[in-house]
Amino acid sequence: CGIFGIVFAEKPRRPLGEILRRALERLEYRGYDSAGVAVVDKGLVVRKDAGKVAEVASRYGFDALQGTVGIAHTRWATHGKPDQSNAHPHTDCRGVIAVVHNGIIENYAELKRELLAKGHVFKSETDTEVVVHLVEEYKRQGLDTFTAFKKALARIRGAYAIALIDAENPNAIYFARNLSPLIIGVGDGFNIVASDIPTVLDYTKRIVAVRDGEYGYITPTEVYIEADGVPQPVYERVEEIPWS
Ligand code: GLU
Repeated sequence: CGIFGIVFAEKPRRPLGEILRRALERLEYRGYDSAGVAVVDKGLVVRKDAGKVAEVASRYGFDALQGTVGIAHTRWATHGKPDQSNAHPHTDCRGVIAVVHNGIIENYAELKRELLAKGHVFKSETDTEVVVHLVEEYKRQGLDTFTAFKKALARIRGAYAIALIDAENPNAIYFARNLSPLIIGVGDGFNIVASDIPTVLDYTKRIVAVRDGEYGYITPTEVYIEADGVPQPVYERVEEIPWS
């Protein structure tokens, strides 16, 4: 029931996996049954399972994972039992794209039928997994990752906060929000997407609240937000959270 993603310009001083594990601990209060992370370190690396953050993180060595871009998730199961295959992140058939999602994709069953007919192989029982296969499908048609992501968003209905990374384009985290909380933390040499402010405050006090229907991407140096195909103002929306 929580999302965190961070993209750095340079390798962070602490291993990326440790940063992701700490963020997951911050998100625990929201309630969850499973936890997982994905990072890009040469290729895509995914570690996830049902259980407590501390258990899953130590069993799979989260703290040693390296990289400059990663996403993390605590799951509160709605579709598919809490187990390793249903834990997020979910990946495409080739294992280069990873997605985390909070909420419910209402039309996932028809999308899954369509994708199965196109030859996609599903590894989970979740509603979420259709998102990553849609992006894969549109990339396969020759679209760049962001255009493919936007096309995938146009196909899904429901409540969602989404963060997605692509090992073939590892300088960005793609995000979208509809009826589930999502904010951006604006950093210096990095940017963050997350479900809530406390998770971001360890790293930056500068926040942008993403609105329903908005989507975009962050890179280490850019925050880009769009709604209905129209670029949205970003930097005038930055709120400074007072130092406590
Ligand atoms: N519907 C998704 C699932 O069951 C996401 C649940 C959540 O919000 O954590 O995996």
